[in-house]
Amino acid sequence: MRPNDLTPLFAPVETLKGIGPRLAVLMKKALRLPPGVREPRVLDLLWHMPTGVVDRRAEPSVADAVPGAIVTLKVRVLKHKVPPRGNSKVPYRVTTEDDTGRLELVFFRAEPSFVERQLPVGEIRYVSGRAERYGDTLQMPHPDYIVPEDRRADLPLLEPVYPLTAGLTAKVVLKAVRQAVDRVPELAEWQDAAWLKQRAWPSFADSVRGVHVPGDAGDVSPSSIYWQRLAYDELLANQLALGIVRQSFKAQRGRPVRGDGRFREKIVAALPFALTNSQKAALGDIAGDMSAPHRMLRLLQGDVGSGKTVVALMAMAIAVEAGAQAALMAPTEVLARQHLETIAPLAESAGLRVGLLTGREKGRPREHLLEALKHGEIDILIGTHALFQDDVVFRDLAFAVIDEQHRFGVHQRLALQMKGGEGGANMLVMTATPIPRTLLMTHYGDLDVSKLTEKPAGRKPIVTRAVPTEAMERLIERIRIQLQEGAQVYWVCPLIESSDVSELAAAEERHAHLRQIFGEGVGLLHGGMASSEKDATMAAFARNELQILVATTVIEVGVNVPNANIMVIEHAERFGLAQLHQLRGRVGRGSRESFCMLLYAQPLGETAKQRLEMMEATEDGFLIAEKDLELRGGGEVLGARQSGLPEFRVADVPGFTTLLATARDDARLILERDPALTTARGRALRTLLYLFECDEAVRLFRAA
Ligand code: ADP
Ligand code: MG
Repeated sequence: MRPNDLTPLFAPVETLKGIGPRLAVLMKKALRLPPGVREPRVLDLLWHMPTGVVDRRAEPSVADAVPGAIVTLKVRVLKHKVPPRGNSKVPYRVTTEDDTGRLELVFFRAEPSFVERQLPVGEIRYVSGRAERYGDTLQMPHPDYIVPEDRRADLPLLEPVYPLTAGLTAKVVLKAVRQAVDRVPELAEWQDAAWLKQRAWPSFADSVRGVHVPGDAGDVSPSSIYWQRLAYDELLANQLALGIVRQSFKAQRGRPVRGDGRFREKIVAALPFALTNSQKAALGDIAGDMSAPHRMLRLLQGDVGSGKTVVALMAMAIAVEAGAQAALMAPTEVLARQHLETIAPLAESAGLRVGLLTGREKGRPREHLLEALKHGEIDILIGTHALFQDDVVFRDLAFAVIDEQHRFGVHQRLALQMKGGEGGANMLVMTATPIPRTLLMTHYGDLDVSKLTEKPAGRKPIVTRAVPTEAMERLIERIRIQLQEGAQVYWVCPLIESSDVSELAAAEERHAHLRQIFGEGVGLLHGGMASSEKDATMAAFARNELQILVATTVIEVGVNVPNANIMVIEHAERFGLAQLHQLRGRVGRGSRESFCMLLYAQPLGETAKQRLEMMEATEDGFLIAEKDLELRGGGEVLGARQSGLPEFRVADVPGFTTLLATARDDARLILERDPALTTARGRALRTLLYLFECDEAVRLFRAA
């Protein structure tokens, strides 16, 4: 049970003053909510970290106000100049003064009654905002704050700046965050006293306050003691949760599963290709795990197309050879059916019986399937979340594979495992997203990992070259030659910061340009198109009716055109390594020699240079992921977003890697000394786990 102390923090944001349903919807957009959380809660505001701070502490006289600077001025309201009706170009002006000079407050498209209410003639007001010089007058367009003398405290002298969304103003967020901060109770300390002292870290409550209600501009920085403390809290919660999961996992004995190889032999004989060495090595790891007396939990990593499915099938065959059953779970129905299509012919030629269970199987056929499963007349069951349902009962499930594991939570994994009865099922989880070791550690602890690093035979390497934009004409000449030989080209257009519109404009311009050169065979694909249009364009490219496809980054996801062999990426210096790697993965799928041309604008920054060099040097997604982590040097890591792994909300700070390693050691020590978290510190740590929503781990204490 969650401690009562925390209840106010888990209440919806609408319980805060001034936040109604409309603002709650906007907050849902602006805040990063953990997976599965649909309504923003007070707690989410605490983790809505500022990106900077506006310093309003300068309080000069009007005469001393520096144009261009943010200032807070104490002025008397002299007169209002209401703009003529119907002319929105003329602003509403209010003249104010202090003993040293005059200040004009300027409001465009203002509601006159609003301005009148805020600034009654003859009254004193504090106004805060950016002062500007306009001809001879000092003016302040749209002051951020206008407060009377007795409400002076409402004016934040140091105002944290928060990520916003259209319709959600800084003031609303600021007020809400402050209320959230006021709800933080004093909690028993969970960190080690000596460690806190060494780092000079304040209490949790003071740290939350330090970041959101700063006393100094430097407090709102990921390297401040406040932020660092919170980051460490988040990392410790994460490492502790992993430790608990692992501990409960190891506490349960597994069952050794050994096969005699008879089905595997038949599958290999039916394969139209030989297994790669990586595939064989992974299968060796898996067979070893399965035959050991503890439960298996292994991650199989391999880029898209590296051949994970065959490995899964062979591994499942081991379980069947041992007289048991196996299951393969995919995150979507489409993927589940795709697996069935790949696996069924091979499995059946080896004499294995395969079933499919998704949300779509209903009524009689479903009943039949479940009966057969219960009686062991199905050897391998492929499906979706539907496999978790209570009435899905195996005769003897010894092995389960989860594809694209990141889309499932820990508890779902456990639920499937529990269907394995006594010893629980051995588990293999698979992912196509290369996850750097550091990140793996944060999400799985010491999970066993196998990697498919080798591409299946017959695939050619992709020649990658970074060239300056000035060389585009030569590139176009080379493409002309390639096109005559039947090549097809993806041409990805510049990613322009913070504006979808200009990204599109750039793509349209390039499309027009290439059309002039190459004619009708140049297509355009962008995110603003209806999905039917997108599909039609993609299909035309796949049928080779289009030879060049100019696209914004929308092509990143799920496109397979084996004949396409050239990838051109404009302004490659603006892309992250993960994205470049994903984009490049669109080519090199067929028999043609493939190229990836990275066009960059000079001068190149140091990091961008290293990224492009890395791309030229290797196609290994794992190496690239490690490098990406190194270049970013933080918790906001490659893959986290794409892979759906939970991202850290607070811990994305300088020193991330070191803090993480310390948190891991700390967690290990804590669990060694107090495995059930029953000491005073242990109980405080449980609160920490709830705060960072690692309750799944807490629940395991009861399960164990
Ligand atoms: P993923 O790892 O993305 O799940 P798949 O398992 O779908 O990849 O395999 C991609 C393609 O490669 C499939 O058509 C599969 O039959 C083929 N394949 C798998 N292993 C090999 C191999 N050793 N040699 C050649 N082709 C292979
Ligand atoms: Mg796959």
